Amino acid sequence: MAIETMEAPTLESASMQDLYRELIRRLGENPERDGLLRTPERMEKSMAYLTRGYGQTVAEVLHGALFDVDYDEMVIVKDIEFFSLCEHHLLPFFGKAHVAYVPQGKVIGLSKTARLVDVFARRLQVQERLTREISDAIEEAIRPQGVAVILEAQHLCMMMRGVEKQHSHTVTSAMLGVFKTQMQTRNEFLSLVRSHGSGV
Ligand SMILES: [Zn+2]
Repeated sequence: MAIETMEAPTLESASMQDLYRELIRRLGENPERDGLLRTPERMEKSMAYLTRGYGQTVAEVLHGALFDVDYDEMVIVKDIEFFSLCEHHLLPFFGKAHVAYVPQGKVIGLSKTARLVDVFARRLQVQERLTREISDAIEEAIRPQGVAVILEAQHLCMMMRGVEKQHSHTVTSAMLGVFKTQMQTRNEFLSLVRSHGSGV
């Protein structure tokens, strides 16, 4: 029926770009002016990129990247840069992840550890859950003797809104297995993370 084609788009049927155009309008701007004309298109693309973790799984990232080993020394990957979006304000938080585990027959290829962090960072997050999701994913993938994850991050939602001091870092950690039960293992990890000028 002709009348159906006349109906205005509903919230559900509107395109992402329509929604961004409306958002820009409600902020008091003119989405038709030159500088803003292609902004909805750019926002859609950048938001898809910043949340691409929703389309990824740990299994596919780690596929072919788990290796059998017969040593049980601590594996540590420091200073993994990450960028995420806080789920409360959709503003960035970003910083460094330090990941360690004591293997029990299996290790993860080094470059894949960074990609694993990205799977969870590229979603709407809170720092505590991100920390936990990384440690749990490693635990599940290789069943090590223990996993430790520390994230140091700066949150633009605090910095830009003046909630916290400009340079304050938020530090979160998750300690599983031997990192929880053996103080010596935990301390070894912490001193390795602290060396080379890390701000933890
Ligand atoms: Zn926030």
